[in-house]
Amino acid sequence: MTIDAKRHRSRTGRALRHLPAVLLVAMGLLAGTCSGPREGREPTVIDGLTMGTTYTVQIAKHPRLSARSVLQIKKDLDSLFAQINREMSIYDNNSEISRFNRSRKTDWFAVSHSTAELINEALTVSKKTEGAFDVTVGPLVNLWGFGPKTGNLTVPGQEKIAEQMSHCGYRKLSARLAPPAIRKTTGNVSCDLSAIAKGHGVDRAAAYLDSAQIDDYLIEIGGEIKARGTNAENQPWQVGIAAPDSTFGVGKIVSLNKAAMATSGNYRNYFEVAGVRYSHIIDPRTGRPVTHDLASVTVIHDNCAYADAMATALIVLGPDAGYDLAVREGLATLMIVREGSTYSEKATPRFARFVSPGRERITGER
Ligand code: ADP
Ligand code: MG
Repeated sequence: MTIDAKRHRSRTGRALRHLPAVLLVAMGLLAGTCSGPREGREPTVIDGLTMGTTYTVQIAKHPRLSARSVLQIKKDLDSLFAQINREMSIYDNNSEISRFNRSRKTDWFAVSHSTAELINEALTVSKKTEGAFDVTVGPLVNLWGFGPKTGNLTVPGQEKIAEQMSHCGYRKLSARLAPPAIRKTTGNVSCDLSAIAKGHGVDRAAAYLDSAQIDDYLIEIGGEIKARGTNAENQPWQVGIAAPDSTFGVGKIVSLNKAAMATSGNYRNYFEVAGVRYSHIIDPRTGRPVTHDLASVTVIHDNCAYADAMATALIVLGPDAGYDLAVREGLATLMIVREGSTYSEKATPRFARFVSPGRERITGER
């Protein structure tokens, strides 16, 4: 059934992903350039490519940041991101995770401390969300054509879905920290960390900047963000969230200090067959892409990996069960729900704490 199929895939695989439309990182725009560039009040910006997307680090007000140390920071960040890829990228055939995925053995498989720790964290989110977040979902991601090997624009039959589902399930995966290792219950279980890795990369970059005694920064990898301190104008870092439709522009603006923010959306990477939109986020309970009207979920938390994973999980759970879980967990969460050609929003009480006064609404604002 490939007739009528069209793919929208701005953020996938190795292809360069664009900054998500829902997140307009308010770099210069809100952080200072609207009043015109002023000597000494512009943040230092370092950017590059990682995890099939872009990264940007802004550093404000550091008194001794010479051109040489900026170059060193860029070098250190690039090697940090390369190391993370060697640990957990499914796009690098020799990464720890790719080797684990190829292995058919069911005994402990030695990995770096960070990989074991991240899988532990992923499993914690799986338990909390009753399996809505599940890093063993890779075979289904591939079946639906969203994995490293781009597939056809087809809707697989139920038999094929059931076959791949039998290789999935977070209970088939475990992790230990001393010594760090991971393990699968059957040979064909695999691990896809795409829904948590960018957040993890942000956390690692933040830890590096902290260790370099840089106190005022904003880091962003493909839309996942962490900020600390203040911007070049001595104001809290501000980040804009737009409705998932370019005509709406920036709406809510949130302030972040020692906090991370991640967004998951089912409008950026999907394909359509006969009018049905199939997103790259899979509901592990059905083996099918999520199809409800939740366009995006934004989560704010201290830990960016956790925010990233929870944002994906809440997309799977949907606007009702997902919202209830976010409230129960005391999470700062904003959901944008598609309603025909317009959007409505559902924010948890905790989310309100982060919203800048006067910028509470999304719809129609510019
Ligand atoms: P994005 O990569 O667009 O930021 P996410 O963080 O939500 O979006 O990650 C989506 C990716 O995670 C998919 O491309 C797929 O590789 C993987 N994935 C899909 N469904 C799930 C799920 N239910 N749990 C964990 N990972 C998933
Ligand atoms: Mg995610």
